[in-house]
Amino acid sequence: MELIDRHSIIMGLSCGFILAMVVINLLYFGATKKAVFGAYSGYVIFLGLSLASINGLGAHYLWQHSPWFGQHALAIFSNVSVALSIIVFDLLLDIRSYNAKRSRALQALSIFYVLSASLSLIIPLPVFTSVMSAILVMGWSLTYVLGGWLWFKGVAIARLYTLGRSLLFITLLVVGAQYLNLFNLGINASYLLALAVAIEALLLTLVLAFKHNQQHLDLFKIQSQQLAKTLQDKSALDEILTMQERAQEELEYKMQERNLELEITLRELSEKNHELQEKNTLDALTGVRNRSYFDKKYIAEIRRSRREQTQLSIVMIDIDHFKNVNDKYGHLVGDDCIKAVALSIKNALKRPSDDLCRYGGEEFVLILPSTELSGANTLVENIRQTIEQTPVQSDGFTISLTISAGIATAIAKPELAEKTILASADQQLYQAKNAGRNKVKGIFLSDSDEQEQD
Ligand code: GH3
Ligand code: MG
Ligand code: MG
Repeated sequence: MELIDRHSIIMGLSCGFILAMVVINLLYFGATKKAVFGAYSGYVIFLGLSLASINGLGAHYLWQHSPWFGQHALAIFSNVSVALSIIVFDLLLDIRSYNAKRSRALQALSIFYVLSASLSLIIPLPVFTSVMSAILVMGWSLTYVLGGWLWFKGVAIARLYTLGRSLLFITLLVVGAQYLNLFNLGINASYLLALAVAIEALLLTLVLAFKHNQQHLDLFKIQSQQLAKTLQDKSALDEILTMQERAQEELEYKMQERNLELEITLRELSEKNHELQEKNTLDALTGVRNRSYFDKKYIAEIRRSRREQTQLSIVMIDIDHFKNVNDKYGHLVGDDCIKAVALSIKNALKRPSDDLCRYGGEEFVLILPSTELSGANTLVENIRQTIEQTPVQSDGFTISLTISAGIATAIAKPELAEKTILASADQQLYQAKNAGRNKVKGIFLSDSDEQEQD
């Protein structure tokens, strides 16, 4: 009774333990979907069933109604468990990554054991048992040797795996020796096997868990490295972008600077151009407007008078007996006199629209827009008097000068030729000269009559 109890308790505990390992690995399989956990669960189940076939628990509780199955149970379960142990070995140690051929050979071997399990149903059991035992030991040893090979290669899991299996291997040797009556430890072979299977199941479960954890750690490491690389790449990209932005800003700044410089240069150029144009319109000796300016301005004012119907006065002024001045005092003094006369005339002009031009030699011409004959006459008479009363000082000489002037005033009409007003002013000058010089003569040009004025 005590013996039976002890037997039952040890067997029950072993079975419970093996079942616990199965459940743990099935849970792992469910959570990770990794084939190795599934295969390992199967392996432990079939190993347990093999054990149950050996110790009679199977015949007693599981297949008590089928003596035929009882005969073949050990052959089936042990073959399938070896087939699964080979698959577990292949997957767990990832043989494919070391040697693809060996991995394929292992898979073929596992199929062979499944076939062997089927064969055990048709081949007479005594024949089969002796052959099968040898084959099983060979297959089992093969994984054991390969485990050692990987241990030798420095694979940490292979070491744990081989150690885990060693226990079962030694136990099998002990049981075998007892069976062959080589020696007897006096321990029930069933207990030994149950214990060895339970411990192996535990050890291999730990190995699997260890590997799974290791893979997680590796994955985590790879992910961390990838993350670090991504961050590095991103910071490098950011740096490149910042550099690009800076370069762009610098370029824009430089372009703005260049634009500004260009604008300044353009403005300076246009000012210089304007100055040059201004200079082109000035007479070099007197600084008043020159002949070419007069020619253009004259036409422009004729048109304006025509357009706005305003009176335009043109005055021709000529210094009297100027040849004598040159002859007497020399050309340089003569030049000074011309300058002085120009300045006197210029000072007399009040309206911004009035223009004084040097017509040539000692002759000047005044353009007086919107000025009637009487107004022009008063102005020119003033000039005449001022010049008469203001002798020119040059080179220690005092030179008295007089001028003669001819005025022509008109509202320009389409039928009036453009040159007519100027020509009339010239005629009036001629008359002033003829009348004894130092005189102002004027004329108003109209369609019907011409009014002259002294
Ligand atoms: P009038 O006009 O009263 O008839 O006598 P005028 O002596 O002034 O006669 P004319 O108009 O024929 O002579 C003009 C002189 O003015 C000729 C030239 O010697 C002098 N002249 C012309 N241009 C210049 C000049 O730029 N500088 C100097 N110094 N003399 C000039
Ligand atoms: Mg003259
Ligand atoms: Mg003259």
